[in-house]
Amino acid sequence: MIRQSVRGPKIRLRRLRASEARRALVREHHVMVERLVQPIFIVEDERAAGPIASLPGISRLTVPQAVTYARRLQQMKIRAVMLFGLPAHKDPIASSNYEPQGVVQRTIREIKAAVPELLVCADLCNCEYTDHGHCGLLDARGDVDNDRTVEVLVRTALTYAASGADVIAPSDMMDGRVGAIRDALDEENFLQVAILSYAAKYASAFYGPFREAAGCAPQFGDRRTYQMDPPNVREAMREIELDIREGADVVMIKPALSYLDVIRAARERFDVPIAAFNVSGEYAMLHAAASNGWLDLPRAVDEVLASITRAGADLIVTYFAQEYAERNG
Ligand SMILES: [Zn+2]
Repeated sequence: MIRQSVRGPKIRLRRLRASEARRALVREHHVMVERLVQPIFIVEDERAAGPIASLPGISRLTVPQAVTYARRLQQMKIRAVMLFGLPAHKDPIASSNYEPQGVVQRTIREIKAAVPELLVCADLCNCEYTDHGHCGLLDARGDVDNDRTVEVLVRTALTYAASGADVIAPSDMMDGRVGAIRDALDEENFLQVAILSYAAKYASAFYGPFREAAGCAPQFGDRRTYQMDPPNVREAMREIELDIREGADVVMIKPALSYLDVIRAARERFDVPIAAFNVSGEYAMLHAAASNGWLDLPRAVDEVLASITRAGADLIVTYFAQEYAERNG
């Protein structure tokens, strides 16, 4: 006790923080470029291509532009992309979603031909393809009809697989869709096509910029009858458990930042790879603050990606992937 008062504390945690070399030596988590997935928006109607105001640095691309971009990403050591299609035609039953010459199907084929090593994940949902903007087909009451929607998802998933997608990523939140997609893929002998399910996808306010980018805001109502209620974490564990049982290879939590506890809970409970989607609103918030000079963007990005990694995510779908890879290549 006397010694302590004369010389101060014996244990000094600041010792290992005294230089970058010391900090690097004991750093607990690393954000690796090969675990980041860059989302890409592809338009069928070339007139719709161009920058997205609420997502600075992100554009809607034509199919040839998407191929060029994929090549660039691969040179930056990014290993995976997530494709979102914006079709020219929308109708109540999302028929352009399973069109073999559809915008996503063509993009998959062209990227796999040009950059075969790049992992192509195809987001699978109906909201970009329905004229009402909901993620599925509607029943007579205007609610999303779960089982008819699953049929469309299965049909579409098979066209993505036939086009060469490595990963199918259903983001619709219908019950039973993972099992149905897995069965159909297996029956058609697409045994190597993996399923990354958006297992716990919340009805979040942080999707705003995505809806502008993809033009898929619901024309009436909201998505609370199928996406999860933000305060729930135990229910997320049930969603994840079901998707694993139905054959999901990777399970995703979306959004990431307001749900770090959900990522952590899933990490502690399940041994499958866990993905997190660092969503459009999370990207837009940082850019908006940085453009006002209120925070240092690269440092904020590093901290955000580190926090998602520390929470337990193995891979992160993020609009920052390219930017992060450029700085850390
Ligand atoms: Zn959707």
